Amino acid sequence: MLKSLAKLGVETVADIISYWPRRHEDRSKLFKIRELLPNMDKVTVVGRITGAIVSKTKKGIPYFKVTLTDGETEIDSISATWYRQTFLNHSLNVGMTVLVHGKIMPTGRAFQIIVKEYEIVKYGEKSQHTLGIIPIYGLTKSLLQKPLREFIRLIIERYASSLPDVIPSDILAKRGLMPYSMAIMQYHFPDSLQNLEIARQRLAYEEFFILCTKMELRRKVIEGKQRSTKYDIRGHLLSHFKERLPFSFTRAQGKVINEIFADLMSYKSMNRLIQGDVGSGKTVVALSAMLLAVENNHQAVLMAPTEILAAQHYKTFMELLKGLPVKVALLRGKDPNKKQIMSGIKNGAYNLIVGTHALLQDFVIFHDLSLVIIDEQHKFGVAQREKLYNKGDVPDILILTATPIPRSLALTIYGDLDISIIDEMPYADKKPVSYVLPWDEAIQSAENVLAQGRQTYIVYPVIQESKQEDLANCIKAYEEISHGPLQKYNVGLLHGQMDIDERSVIMSKFQSGEIGVLISTSMIEVGLDNPNAVLMIVNNPERFGLSQLHQLRGRVNRGRYQGIFIMVANGANKTESVQRRMDIILRTNDGFEIAEEDLAIRGPGEFMGHRQHGDMGTTVADLTKDMQIIKAAKIDARGMLGKGIPFDVLCLTGMVRKELDNEGVG
Ligand code: ADP
Ligand code: MG
Repeated sequence: MLKSLAKLGVETVADIISYWPRRHEDRSKLFKIRELLPNMDKVTVVGRITGAIVSKTKKGIPYFKVTLTDGETEIDSISATWYRQTFLNHSLNVGMTVLVHGKIMPTGRAFQIIVKEYEIVKYGEKSQHTLGIIPIYGLTKSLLQKPLREFIRLIIERYASSLPDVIPSDILAKRGLMPYSMAIMQYHFPDSLQNLEIARQRLAYEEFFILCTKMELRRKVIEGKQRSTKYDIRGHLLSHFKERLPFSFTRAQGKVINEIFADLMSYKSMNRLIQGDVGSGKTVVALSAMLLAVENNHQAVLMAPTEILAAQHYKTFMELLKGLPVKVALLRGKDPNKKQIMSGIKNGAYNLIVGTHALLQDFVIFHDLSLVIIDEQHKFGVAQREKLYNKGDVPDILILTATPIPRSLALTIYGDLDISIIDEMPYADKKPVSYVLPWDEAIQSAENVLAQGRQTYIVYPVIQESKQEDLANCIKAYEEISHGPLQKYNVGLLHGQMDIDERSVIMSKFQSGEIGVLISTSMIEVGLDNPNAVLMIVNNPERFGLSQLHQLRGRVNRGRYQGIFIMVANGANKTESVQRRMDIILRTNDGFEIAEEDLAIRGPGEFMGHRQHGDMGTTVADLTKDMQIIKAAKIDARGMLGKGIPFDVLCLTGMVRKELDNEGVG
């Protein structure tokens, strides 16, 4: 047991206690045997064993079967069957009283219960498995439900009362929260559904309280770190850059640039999140900030999650900065002249650096890094962000994300950041139009746009055929389409299993227009920018999340031409829930609205993922229903820190050592 748990990283008492149930099953009703009806599921009965046999089915499956009785007449008896577990013959004997839980199957004229869980009734002991509100835990091959449940209960009984309560007692009293030890017990083994919910709220409160405390501290540490210099607009780069830009900034871009510049031109260090829907033009906003850093003789870096994106940013920067005295470097995992590039970064020959994760390596050293920008932040963890941050001397941070997170949620997840929103699209009047169409018509549309010299994406949920599922796949599609009527427009294939060089060849051929049709997985979802690609066809759209579909659609929302987004209709997406989701995509182009719907349909897991789960540290909390709890926790955490930092409390949570060290408290 301990070994199997250790494999899951569950090692300490605290780990075991927070091995929260996946869910609970309400087995609190005890049925009389005479009340049972065929096909009832998840029922519990108690009875005395009046007979027991071991036998085999016609197909040769061995089973153990007992007759259970809870009354005097024939209808008070039922047989209970355990398939394969014939060894039970040794532990369950005639005369014993047992609780059994399972499903009722009609067998001939009588019924039987197929037993899922059972336990022997012992005098004075409560049922742990069959009667009550029973926790169901996540299992692995070597972890079985019953022994795990017993083990967790044992640990809680032994240790819970000696565990300290993280929440200060005045807050506990004020909010009327259940004491910690009771909450743990009730969240695992609740006495009632009501207690389960009260316990859950208490634990959720605690998670948010810790999270908010952490955020507040982080914010304090960051605010406490004053930069020694502030930037000034010198104008020799920015004004030229602006003049040459082939478009003027949207109002929203202008507003966000002002917010960024206000930070950069003060002594306060910047820690800002830029949220803007796909295609809202975050790149040039980021570039403006980078140029301000360069005007002030510092280096600025932009980290992107993929090689393709980094290369694309590099290309964009080179074009937009042509003729200006700015040296741009591109650093990727295995460039042949990586050494040279790195020494240029180190000696300050480069002002503006674009790269991938490769930037995080220890031997990448900057000359004078003062601005760190992270693109598509949800693809990175906080640790990575901090690693890059530490390469500068208290640099300013700008984080770009296309994931529209509902504002209330953003304030929690990104409580330590200031937020700017680019809430307007360039060419706002030219939204892509969306359809659900059969494949033939989708391909017809592709032919039309290709004939006009435009390009098209065709997206598949998976790379290869699989035995389990019948899904359209990239590789097969590529074979077919590259020999079909679209052949003359050149068909390219792009997916995650290709090697990086191959991928970048395909990408640049697509960018240059040499390839007209790009067949791909959802890997093109992030950031790619080819304004000539105006059509996207998505196969098996039911396999993508709403926000993901919206991100994909963002690829054909590049302004100049009318974008078209087609979801291919098939049998699988005829179901009502899929229809409902596709309707949302058809109905609106507003990323925030789609995010709200996504939140409602799928719950917050999706969003939590964007700030890595471990970092959020929440597991019991449910962001869709816990908004009130979040607010309370935030107020309380602020209040507590406002009164000074209660060192004990913070150390107990084990979370703030680093911040405290930095601050020199304690
Ligand atoms: P995202 O916010 O998704 O990263 P990008 O920065 O890649 O978006 O911008 C998408 C496209 O819109 C690019 O081709 C960019 O050049 C163009 N663009 C950005 N700002 C404007 C603007 N104000 N007017 C017109 N086009 C713009
Ligand atoms: Mg982008």
